[in-house]
Amino acid sequence: MPCKNCREKPVIRLTNSNIELCKSCFFKYFEKKVRKTISKYNLIEKKEKIAVACSGGKDSMSLLYLLNKLAKKREIEVVAVAIDEGIKNYRDLKYLKKYCKENNIEIHVSSFKNEFGFTLDQAVKKIKNINPCSICGVLRRRLLNKAAHELKADKLTTGHNMDDESQSVMMNYVRGNLERSTRLGPITGIVKDKRFVPRIKPFYFLTEKETATYAYLKQFPVKFIECPYSAISFRGEVRDLINSIEKNHPGTKHAIINSFLELLPALRNLYKESKVRTCIHCQEPSSGEICNTCLIVNKLKNA
Ligand code: SF4
Ligand SMILES: [Zn+2]
Ligand SMILES: [Zn+2]
Repeated sequence: MPCKNCREKPVIRLTNSNIELCKSCFFKYFEKKVRKTISKYNLIEKKEKIAVACSGGKDSMSLLYLLNKLAKKREIEVVAVAIDEGIKNYRDLKYLKKYCKENNIEIHVSSFKNEFGFTLDQAVKKIKNINPCSICGVLRRRLLNKAAHELKADKLTTGHNMDDESQSVMMNYVRGNLERSTRLGPITGIVKDKRFVPRIKPFYFLTEKETATYAYLKQFPVKFIECPYSAISFRGEVRDLINSIEKNHPGTKHAIINSFLELLPALRNLYKESKVRTCIHCQEPSSGEICNTCLIVNKLKNA
């Protein structure tokens, strides 16, 4: 079947429909969807400073490219922030640094090693019975927020796509942790605290297949490899489950996201009394007396 819009040779069949698009129509579709998400949810305002969380992977590279493209028109300032967790043969920021240099984008890199004194690989060896992603996610969020805060960014944007978000929604359901879902959505959560830089997700309504195709066709210098820990993560299990349902019932990911967005205002209302406390060790915002970052760091000290 030729491209639905111009009859050229197609490069992709969209996940939620039978529509096929050629390269140039796909680029238009993709970028329009990003612009629509930004304006519908008011993700970015004029003159804001936007910190783009970059892993050097396909999603964040596409996001950095697109926001940089929008920067002039929207009068925004774009800066890249990256975290080196210390995962051997996986995390590689050299292409990202090169890209930023070539495109005059300021980049700030923090590492687990410098900030906490250990790499993720070392932490995983030391603490048994804990999923690597639980350590990685908590510490990375802390460093990203810290970097964005220090840079006085108005927003921190991540390349989370529809697949990531539908997995997070399902993981919170399965774990019975609905309160955590209040922190999901195209713009972050119920907690209004000046120590948190609001997080935005311009790729919210784009699937993994679409973001991967975009990055591939744009020929961004990214490696399409998976983190060695992803195979043993709970997210990996949920991802495989949703993908297998999507295969037999196309539109499942869209349905999960859309029904979640209908529920989100009610969920945020239900948990609006949740208080942000201050960690007694590091003075950072926390839901308990000691924040999750300090709990992990202390566990490692005592391991
Ligand atoms: S898969 Fe897990 S360990 Fe690997 S980068 Fe992602 S969160 Fe970190
Ligand atoms: Zn076309
Ligand atoms: Zn703390």
